[in-house]
Amino acid sequence: MKTLDQIADELQGYDPQAMSADDVLAFLSKLVTPVQDVLELPLFEALGRVLAEDVISPFDVPPHDNSAMDGYAFDGQQLSADAPLELQVMGTALAGKAWQGSVNAGQCVKIMTGAIMPQGLDTVVPQEFVKLSQVGETSRITIPPGLLRTGDNRRRRGEDLMQGKPALQKSEPLTPARLGLAASLGLKTLKTWRPLRVAYFSTGDEILSLGEAPREGAVYDSNRYTVFGMLSRMGCQMIDMGVVRDDPAMLEAAFTHAATQADAIITSGGVSVGEADFTKAMMKKLGDVAFWRIAMRPGRPMAVGRILPIKSASSPDGKGASSYKQHSNPDGAVLFGLPGNPVAVMVTFLAFVRPALLQMMGASTAPAPQLKARSMEAIRKKPGRTEYQRGWVSTAPDGSLQVKTTGSQGSGVLRSMAEANGLMVLHHTQGNVAIGDEVDVMMFDSVI
Ligand code: AMP
Ligand code: MG
Repeated sequence: MKTLDQIADELQGYDPQAMSADDVLAFLSKLVTPVQDVLELPLFEALGRVLAEDVISPFDVPPHDNSAMDGYAFDGQQLSADAPLELQVMGTALAGKAWQGSVNAGQCVKIMTGAIMPQGLDTVVPQEFVKLSQVGETSRITIPPGLLRTGDNRRRRGEDLMQGKPALQKSEPLTPARLGLAASLGLKTLKTWRPLRVAYFSTGDEILSLGEAPREGAVYDSNRYTVFGMLSRMGCQMIDMGVVRDDPAMLEAAFTHAATQADAIITSGGVSVGEADFTKAMMKKLGDVAFWRIAMRPGRPMAVGRILPIKSASSPDGKGASSYKQHSNPDGAVLFGLPGNPVAVMVTFLAFVRPALLQMMGASTAPAPQLKARSMEAIRKKPGRTEYQRGWVSTAPDGSLQVKTTGSQGSGVLRSMAEANGLMVLHHTQGNVAIGDEVDVMMFDSVI
C-alpha cells in the first residue's frame, strides 16, 4: 500500500488544485490494488464475477466433426461443377449417437444437425436443396450442380475450442456467453475474485431520507440511489449506510464502521471549497486523504485517499480489544469523496470511480470503447477542462450516429441525465463544437 505522498512523488507535476481527468486516472491506478481472495463459485452464482485464473479447455469443442444442417452427408470429392450428383441414401445419422456403417462412392447418409459426421464423409447438403426420389425400398437424392463445395455445412472438431488452449482468460468478467462457454466445457464451478464490498452514504444536513417529511431548504437524497444502481450493475456487494448528518460523532462512527467493513467507501457531499461542515475534517482525521480540484464539468471537487481502520482501541479492561468488529481489510478502505450535486456524482463515478473499482475487482481496465457521433448542435467549450454533456444518441437518416444534448446541463439537473442515453466527452484540450462535428460519446448501455 502506497501513501498519497509516495504516489504524488511518482507522478510528474502533481497538483491537487489543478488535476486533469487523466491525472486523476493515473493517480487512482496507483492508489488501488486488486482484491486477493479467490472464491470458487457454481456457474449460476458466477455471473458478473471476475475470473481469477485462465480456464483451459479440457477437450475439443465440438468433440467430433458434425453436421451444421439437417440434410445428407457425402464425400465432397464427387461434386462436379456442371453435372448433378445422384446419391443413394444408406441410413440416418441422428444427433447424439455415431452412425455405424460404411458409405461408398455414390452413397450418402441422411444426417441431423449436430450428428457426428460418418467416417469418410466431409460435406452436407441441406435437405431443402435436394430432389428426393423413392424406388421401392431405395431412396435417392439429386444435388443440383454449382451449389456446394467440399466441406460445406460441416463443423470441425475443435473449431470452437481446442483442447489445452485457454477458453477464457483471467480478469475477464463472466458474461452470459462466458458462462455458457464454461458450461460447454463441463465445468461446474469457476474460480473468481471475491466481490468488492463497497460502503456508501450521503452527507449533508439538508438531505432527507425517503419517508421523511419535506421541509424548507431540504432535498431528498438521490445520490444513494444512483450510486446504488451503478454499484449493482458492477456486481459489488453494497453496504448502504444511509444519510449521515453533519455531526462529528456520527461522521466518525460512519467512516470507521465503513473502513472496517468495506474495501471502498463512496460518500457524496461536503467536499467543496468553503464547505462549512465536518466531513472534510473527519476524512483528514481518520485517513490519508487528498482534496482535489479537477478540471472538469460537472464534478470539480473530490476527496480521495484511504480511511484507515482503527488499530486497537483500548478497552476498559486494558486487554486492547477493539470496540469495532474485526476489520477485513488491514489497509483500510479506499475513499471516494464525491461532490454533492447529483449529476456530478454520476459523472465522477463513471469517469473515475468505476475504473478504479474495476481494478480493485481484478478486472481488465481497458476503457469501454466510445462511439463517435455528429453533434446536432453547437456547444461552447473551453479548452483546459473535460466536459461531460448529457446526450441522446440516435441514428441519422443516412445511417450515421448523431447526438444532441438533453437540455439543461446544470450539475444538479438529474432530469437531463435521466433523459440521456450517453455522455458526450469533450476532452481537455478540445474547444467549441460546431454543428456536424464528431464528438466522443460514452454510451450508458456499455457501463450502467
Ligand atoms: P455539496 O457538495 O455538499 O456542497 O452539495 C452540492 C449540492 O448538491 C447541494 O445543493 C446539495 O443540496 C446537493 N446534494 C448534496 N447531497 C445530495 C444528495 N445526497 N442528494 C441530492 N442532492 C444532494
Ligand atoms: Mg453540503
